[in-house]
Amino acid sequence: MRQGKLFIISGPSGTGKGTICKRIIALDPDIVLSVSVTTRDPREGEEHGREYFFINREEYMKLLDEGGLLEHASVYGETLYGTPKEPVVKWLEEGRDVILEIDVQGAFQVRDNYPDCVLIFVLPPSMEELKARITGRGTENEENIAARLAEAEGEIRLSDRYDYRIVNEDIDQATRDLYDIIKKEREA
Ligand code: 5GP
Repeated sequence: MRQGKLFIISGPSGTGKGTICKRIIALDPDIVLSVSVTTRDPREGEEHGREYFFINREEYMKLLDEGGLLEHASVYGETLYGTPKEPVVKWLEEGRDVILEIDVQGAFQVRDNYPDCVLIFVLPPSMEELKARITGRGTENEENIAARLAEAEGEIRLSDRYDYRIVNEDIDQATRDLYDIIKKEREA
């Protein structure tokens, strides 16, 4: 049976990559979106097991020590994020394509272990637009917004090491662009 393919989607906070990924999985039942673990608090409207598994530091460290994470990273200083390994391995064996929505540090870790994976970076139309989107979301404080913008600049610099880059000027177009890449890579 065909092995599934692993797609990694990264991009600064506020680029809309989450929305694009949700649309893709709604379009195609053979694609699954991995749910990460994180030590950050849920935002309003987020649900345990849907956006993330919200766990404490102790639970996170236990999972990490047991080898239960495919990759892991500390993003914005204190907050820890990681991809649970078991479901991803199972989905790939079942022939399902898997999307990981993770940061650049995690993406390069995964590529070291799964050289066949495809790295796709979602860019904002401009830094001004990115700032407006993060601020407009109203979920972050001043300090956090500044940290996210600084992080964004660093990530964008590393995006030339990705296989593809998509500019999210228009969400429908960006979704089509990502789906086209997935379809092409599946056949490769
Ligand atoms: P947020 O807190 O806004 O949901 O996500 C912050 C950043 O963490 C985003 O860039 C997101 O891609 C990244 N992230 C989310 N889950 C994971 C994960 O499991 N591993 C890694 N390395 N980064 C993650």
